[in-house]
Amino acid sequence: MPHAKHGLRLDLRTLILVLCALTALVMLCASYFASYRVQRQLLIDHSLEANRVYAAKLAAITETFIGNALQQLSFSAGVQGRQLADAQAMQAETDRVLGQSMAFNSTFVLDADGVLLAISPAPLRHLVGSRMQSPGVQEALRERRRLVSTPYVSAADNLVVALSQPIFDSSGRYLGYVGGSLYLRERNILNSLLGEHFYKDGSYLYVVDRNRRLLYHPDSQRVGTVVTGNTLVDQLATLDSGTRQLINSQGVEMLAGFATVPSAGWGVVAQQPLAQTVTPLSHLVLNVVGTSAPLALVGCLLLWWLAMTIARPLWQLAAGARSMDHAGTAERLHRVRAWYFEAAELKRALLFGLNLLQERIGRLNRDAQTDPLTGLGNRRSMELSLSLLEAERRAFAAIALDIDHFKRVNDNHGHDVGDQVLRKLAELMRRCCREGDLLCRTGGEEFLMLLPGASLEAAAAVAERLRVTVQDTPVEPVGGVTISLGVARWDGEAGGEPAQVLGEADRALYRAKQEGRNRLVVA
Ligand code: GH3
Ligand code: MG
Ligand code: MG
Repeated sequence: MPHAKHGLRLDLRTLILVLCALTALVMLCASYFASYRVQRQLLIDHSLEANRVYAAKLAAITETFIGNALQQLSFSAGVQGRQLADAQAMQAETDRVLGQSMAFNSTFVLDADGVLLAISPAPLRHLVGSRMQSPGVQEALRERRRLVSTPYVSAADNLVVALSQPIFDSSGRYLGYVGGSLYLRERNILNSLLGEHFYKDGSYLYVVDRNRRLLYHPDSQRVGTVVTGNTLVDQLATLDSGTRQLINSQGVEMLAGFATVPSAGWGVVAQQPLAQTVTPLSHLVLNVVGTSAPLALVGCLLLWWLAMTIARPLWQLAAGARSMDHAGTAERLHRVRAWYFEAAELKRALLFGLNLLQERIGRLNRDAQTDPLTGLGNRRSMELSLSLLEAERRAFAAIALDIDHFKRVNDNHGHDVGDQVLRKLAELMRRCCREGDLLCRTGGEEFLMLLPGASLEAAAAVAERLRVTVQDTPVEPVGGVTISLGVARWDGEAGGEPAQVLGEADRALYRAKQEGRNRLVVA
């Protein structure tokens, strides 16, 4: 049976492999994606927390600095309150406070009307005696308490934040105040404290007052300007400390940590651009891929091997099913290692089907070569045997035999009894020959025996034995029957057609009839 070629039809092995490959790919991508997400979030969380801690630390430092600075002013206010009439002493005290620490860019004393009584450093002394009008001075005179001013432009044209401590006499009368200022746009203690601290990873720090004005920023141009459009800065006055993911005034996504300086109402914000935070991510993911690649490869090989192992029995069974009509298919099917349920069931069913088929074919073959009446071979069987003998060039003897006066049997006893005689004769023939001899009914009541390897004498002996047996075996209700026989032999080596030998045997049989029947003639 020629099996149809199915062109591009996929086989199970390919399907399993494709399935496995797809599954592996999906799983890998999913795990890579998950690992990317997790690592990204880790980086972000880490950066937010680091910024918060940093901002909190700097806010605490700033708070301490302001506390110290106000304490110095407080002490100085006590001193100045006792020497308001002594201009030289006051000047000496402002010099002392300025020189005592790096806290201020300038220090000064004003009376209750805002007239400058003393100021340091020396280059500003020409202002002594003038009445100060700047907003910071107004604020301090108005508030009459320990104060950190909002930034303002001073008389000397500096953008300053002033710390001030009021002076009261023993009766509690307000006499003016002692102040120290920080020049925001110049080197001051604030930017010394804050500016030293910066990361090399794009993170930076800025400080705003409660009016969103920048007091410190790495870009000194921006100091003094008001930050707009930054949600964190907008809310900073109401917050304490925390983290925020936000878009800054420049439109850059930022991870910010913040904290406030309570005594000044300032906010400290440390932040890093998100893009910079997640820069190590590609490296990390590559690392993950690199680490998992050999494992994935081993997994793929394992899957491939498994796919082969699963597909092999089915593939072999399918090949067997395609060639059910070929010899050796049963053995091939038997050899298939059907190691799982479905394959085992298929193998069992195929073997069962193959058995049925071969049994059926065998029976048909046998039927096609068997004479139904006697069970001996028919003419086709004889021809087959002859061609085999010829192909093997194997010598054989042929005995042709015919029942004597068989017409009479039919006539006298009927056709059924005639058939019975034919069957009986077949039985006697079987009895008289050896295994391997071929017995055929070649015509109505004509028979042929082929004796492979037999000599003429041996064949004649068999024929004679058969003749005597038939003659001596009565068949009810006919009584005795006789046969005539002709014997010939084909010498395989000598060549010539085996069919000629049959002719010779037939002619010998004819002679036996002529010579009176119930006898045998050897060609
Ligand atoms: P001879 O001694 O010359 O052989 O005489 P015979 O009567 O046997 O003559 P022949 O060999 O020509 O016989 C042929 C007869 O065999 C004709 C037919 O009646 C009978 N016959 C042929 N086939 C069958 C069969 O299948 N069954 C029966 N019962 N008779 C058959
Ligand atoms: Mg005849
Ligand atoms: Mg006859």
